[in-house]
Amino acid sequence: MPIVGVLALQGSFNEHIAALRRLGVKGVEIRKPEQLLNVASLIIPGGESTTMAKLADLHNLFPALREFVRMGKPVWGTCAGLIFLANKATGQKTGGQELVGGLDCTVHRNFFGSQLQSFEAELSIPELVSTEGGPETFRGVFIRAPAILEVGPDVQVLAHCPVSSNSSLDSDSSGEGKEEKSSESKVIVAVRQGNLLATAFHPELTSDNRWHSYFLKMAGDVEESSASTAADIVDN
Ligand code: GLN
Repeated sequence: MPIVGVLALQGSFNEHIAALRRLGVKGVEIRKPEQLLNVASLIIPGGESTTMAKLADLHNLFPALREFVRMGKPVWGTCAGLIFLANKATGQKTGGQELVGGLDCTVHRNFFGSQLQSFEAELSIPELVSTEGGPETFRGVFIRAPAILEVGPDVQVLAHCPVSSNSSLDSDSSGEGKEEKSSESKVIVAVRQGNLLATAFHPELTSDNRWHSYFLKMAGDVEESSASTAADIVDN
């Protein structure tokens, strides 16, 4: 079973490693660019994306993370990790925030409000249930969570979350994103684009391992197809 890297600069990396362990898979902490050479796939956990970005910059991790994504290696971003993977981030205090990018979407930081507006919601995720079985819904834990406002044509939407009309929503002073919030009754909270998976919520904070299992299968498929492409190149 290949080793999964978990970016361990800040945030809920221990919880991801514990979830992987429950599935019999070894997760290793990644803090330096060269450590990415030893792992086949990567999880970028939730936490605080501006702090995580500052630490990633300090450790010179951005070029290696971008190369990891560009090479088509499987990467899953949860919450702040989703923000890291997005091509564009809007919302409060996003100015100048460095992103890894690769995921063709626009994400809005702190979309649902502050820490006090954190919540849990039962999400309908047909793709997860058809692959992993189990209950019809997944309990999403949203902590100062982002939401995805726009996706490109290659992005598969896996889950939406309803937006309550009376929720007190955070916004940047420019009002950016406000229109989308008031006119939408649901927003995108989970997507997949080829080797990239992203969730606005925290599966690692629940005892339901289906997202981790889904990512491991996805990683296995991506690795298998790149191995067969390499074999084709050698054969021809
Ligand atoms: N709001 C946080 C950010 O912008 C993300 C929250 C989380 O990862 N739980 O980085």
